[in-house]
Amino acid sequence: MDIIDNIRQTRDITREQLATILATDDDTLVERLRQAARDTADAVYGNKIFMRGLIELTSHCKNDCLYCGLRRSNRTAVRYRLTDEQIYECCATGYNLGFRTFVMQGGEDGWFDDTRMCRIVRTIRQQYPDCAITLSLGERSRESYQALYDAGANRYLLRHETASPEHYARLHPAEMSWQHRMDCLQALKEIGYQVGCGFMVGSPYQTVDTLYADLQFIRSFQPQMVGIGPFIPAHDTPFADQPHGKVSDTLRLLALIRLLHPCVLLPATTALGTLHPQGRELGIQFGANVVMPNLSPAEHRKDYSIYDNKICTGEESAECRACTEGRLRRIGFESVVDRGDYRNRPACG
Ligand code: SAM
Repeated sequence: MDIIDNIRQTRDITREQLATILATDDDTLVERLRQAARDTADAVYGNKIFMRGLIELTSHCKNDCLYCGLRRSNRTAVRYRLTDEQIYECCATGYNLGFRTFVMQGGEDGWFDDTRMCRIVRTIRQQYPDCAITLSLGERSRESYQALYDAGANRYLLRHETASPEHYARLHPAEMSWQHRMDCLQALKEIGYQVGCGFMVGSPYQTVDTLYADLQFIRSFQPQMVGIGPFIPAHDTPFADQPHGKVSDTLRLLALIRLLHPCVLLPATTALGTLHPQGRELGIQFGANVVMPNLSPAEHRKDYSIYDNKICTGEESAECRACTEGRLRRIGFESVVDRGDYRNRPACG
């Protein structure tokens, strides 16, 4: 049995197989990987791609992650916070455009404490009972995650960043802990959230071994969502001069994640679209099934600057939605704006 069939059938991969797939310049092998990933996604979700409306709540952050443009030490970062009213307006615009999932993401900003955040979630839950509410607000206490869940949040995205504690320590300051991030993911799952983990492709010091650990972590953790995108340097950060992650590696890893975890909700990220004009379309063709058009107020878009040259910072929400829909249609996919829940098919294990 060849390498792609083997990975597909066992839903497992060896370190050597991963090394081969990342290093190969055999276009036929890459095309077979792409086709296998796409067939697998089609078998679960058909040609439907789920759209999530992304609302970037705040560019303030108390953390100092070495790779991120929003890190607290970055004195040149422009800081903003959306008001409750601005957030509700984003949701209203999004709802009218058909979105039925709102993703609220932000830096770790104490302004959005439990009282404020629960009030926001509760208000959106009451107003839009038919919508999924996804949060991506970083590391909080178990009590906080529980309170937000009780207020009506359903899903939580918290990239694990790397499954290697040593690699994690080279990407983060000493006060941040790999174990704490992993404990957060576990707590989110136990509370009942649909959980997303993930990592950057091509982050400094990443190796085949750390990527292999990432894939094995995904296999064991069985998240409902996995977010991966290329690392892109951000100016005025310690990694400003590091090379960006490769589009080709990102596509191969998307395809592998689809084969290892067939039911997973897998976004084609803005970072992929930033590095390649057709990056998100390629991501879909390599097995992704989610896109996240931006619903944030246009005047703040450019200030949620986690990396340089981020795309889609000048458009209004309606333009973003129409553009995304058109891009998907041109490659033969149908964008759907329903809640797009995780499908726990028996075939997915
Ligand atoms: N603060 C929340 C958290 O930590 O999960 C959410 C916001 S954080 C900016 C979202 C993700 O952006 C991170 O998990 C990281 O993987 C990604 N990110 C940060 N800097 C990046 C960069 N320079 N290139 C690509 N992705 C980056």
